[in-house]
Amino acid sequence: MPNVDWKCPNCGGINPGKSKTCLGCNSQKEEELTEKEYKLIEKAHEEIGEVLSKIEEMRLPKITRWEYLILNAGVDSDKKWKVEYKGKNHPYKFLPKIIDELGKKGWEMVGIITSVGSEKPYFSSWTFTMTTGEQYYFKRPYVEIPQKALASINNIESKLPDQLRNRIGSIDMKYY
Ligand SMILES: [Zn+2]
Repeated sequence: MPNVDWKCPNCGGINPGKSKTCLGCNSQKEEELTEKEYKLIEKAHEEIGEVLSKIEEMRLPKITRWEYLILNAGVDSDKKWKVEYKGKNHPYKFLPKIIDELGKKGWEMVGIITSVGSEKPYFSSWTFTMTTGEQYYFKRPYVEIPQKALASINNIESKLPDQLRNRIGSIDMKYY
């Protein structure tokens, strides 16, 4: 493909195929790779990828990993502020209690995102802007749950009659 436009590896400029040097920075055009050379580079990429993933594995036991939890608060259909916790809406005044409960379980608040809405009441020339929701982000160090613990949960669930086993998910059992 001698006359295909080529991208300069030095400045990123696009040059016409017939130009032997970059019009932008005067760098030499790179030689086209043969299929054999291309395969060699491809193979080297693969091998480097394998080494990199081994390096990641070595890093893993030494770094702190995190898990995250998002708490949602906002204006409910009855126009009152609610905070959603464990799948249920609670009055907003319980927020400090909920945050405290999360803190005791190791969750630390690391961020808040506020959503804003606006409203223009009838007969009014003003548009009111107000906070309509808040999201609180928490994190805590991630601890891998041992396979043994998961297996024993499965074992307990398997002893339940079918119709109850399907219901158990609807009861809040999350470990947070
Ligand atoms: Zn260039």
